[in-house]
Amino acid sequence: MVKRKVKQRKLEVGHGWGGPPHDPYTFMERTVHHTIDYGYFVNCMTVTLHEGLMEHVTINGEKFEFEEDDARETFEDLTGIPVATFDTAYNRIASTCCRCGHKGMPTFARGLPGEMFMICGKCDHIINTYMDYSAII
Ligand SMILES: [Zn+2]
Repeated sequence: MVKRKVKQRKLEVGHGWGGPPHDPYTFMERTVHHTIDYGYFVNCMTVTLHEGLMEHVTINGEKFEFEEDDARETFEDLTGIPVATFDTAYNRIASTCCRCGHKGMPTFARGLPGEMFMICGKCDHIINTYMDYSAII
C-alpha cells in the first residue's frame, strides 16, 4: 500500500471574462496547488477547474475538456476535495483576519460606488476589498 501525505496545499479562486466582446460570458476558476509526499518522491501538482460556457480541467498546464459534470468529478478525484468543501475552506481562509486571526463572521461595508469592504468582526481591520465595476459604468 502506497501512503500519500499532502505536505502543502494552496487554494486559489479566479474570475474572468471570455467570449466575443458583443456576447461575453463569465467564468470561475478554482485552483489547488498540491505538494504530495509519497515517501519515495514528492510530487507537485496544480489542478484548475474552469467553469463557464465551457468546462475544463487543467493539470500542470495541460488542458482536458469535459462535458457537463465530468470536469467537476475529475477535479474532485484529482484533488480529493469536493467543490463544496473547497468553497467552504477558501471562504474561511479568505475571511480570517490577518491582524488578530479571528475566524468569525466578518461584516461588510460599502465605500465608494461599487466598492465593498470585508471587515473583521473583532478588531475592525479591513480583511478584503471587492470592486464591482458594473455599479459605476
Ligand atoms: Zn481582526
